[in-house]
Amino acid sequence: MNLFQIKNSQKIVNMFPYAPHLAFWQVVFGGFAAHTLTVSTGGGKVMGTEGNIAATLNMKPAMIIGVPSYVYHVLRVAKEKGCRMDFIEKVVLGASRITEGFKQKLAEILASLGAKDVSIFGTYGFTEARCAWAECPTSLNVSSGYHLYPDKEIFEVIDPKTGEVKNEGEDGELVYTSLDSRASSVIRYRTGDFVKGGITSDPCPHCGLTVPRISSDITRLSDVKDFQLSKIKGALVDLNHFAAVLSDVELIAEWQIEIKKKDDDPFEVDELVIYVCVQDECNKEQLAEEIKKELAMATEVTPNVIKFIPMSEMVKRLELETANKEKRILDSRPKH
Ligand SMILES: [Zn+2]
Repeated sequence: MNLFQIKNSQKIVNMFPYAPHLAFWQVVFGGFAAHTLTVSTGGGKVMGTEGNIAATLNMKPAMIIGVPSYVYHVLRVAKEKGCRMDFIEKVVLGASRITEGFKQKLAEILASLGAKDVSIFGTYGFTEARCAWAECPTSLNVSSGYHLYPDKEIFEVIDPKTGEVKNEGEDGELVYTSLDSRASSVIRYRTGDFVKGGITSDPCPHCGLTVPRISSDITRLSDVKDFQLSKIKGALVDLNHFAAVLSDVELIAEWQIEIKKKDDDPFEVDELVIYVCVQDECNKEQLAEEIKKELAMATEVTPNVIKFIPMSEMVKRLELETANKEKRILDSRPKH
């Protein structure tokens, strides 16, 4: 809460899914520790999107926090309904990597709700640490990196192949040791997360804190591994590239990828279908061409079909209002 520069007179709405899950409880206990009034809605599954919008309008929180796709969904629906949420100053996002394009899109929606100059923060965390680390306030096009708690942990960056410890600022896999945990502890736990830019111990140029910081350019090695096991069209594709490309195209409001077999025949070739919802009316043929070009450049795989669908259908496809984590990438190929 200190890092987000939230005063304890300000309020928070926590939209993380209610579950025995790190993100939800870290916000609950953070709110207790900071003496900040925090209302935890439990996310879409508990209160529905209408309920989350109503709670936000009633509470007038300075800060909202949740899973990126769900916060985006709630704010987009609030915009459609013509709500005013000019009290929001900060939006904190957890549980997946945040691109600059995504921050920009969210800022545009917030501006149309009357909330100007909103700080948008990414966070990084994993269950084994029962902890998450956050960015401090900056303009949308720079990341401060995630600020660490050096009294509570040791972070190292290693070469994932040799295990050799890297120097400050060098790329590699993040390794975590807890110094102050309760119940269970991990020592030199390999996170499977690859960080570009490593760790720096220079004071933060944005907030002045002298704690070490991890670069926010982190990709999950494990995602890539899972995906390698299920190649698309015979090519190894990095899942993170799909997300980064589609989230950064300005005209796209929501998207989903489906990997399937041609004609649902298990022996057929793979097909890649991209479902897209657009922000406003636009030239769809032109947009489809742009998506194909960007994806081919980033992943060397060209989608077979790009389908434009209405938002109501997309919300169902992604299970935005019914699941804890949205179904962003759907592998419908039969399992062997
Ligand atoms: Zn900082």
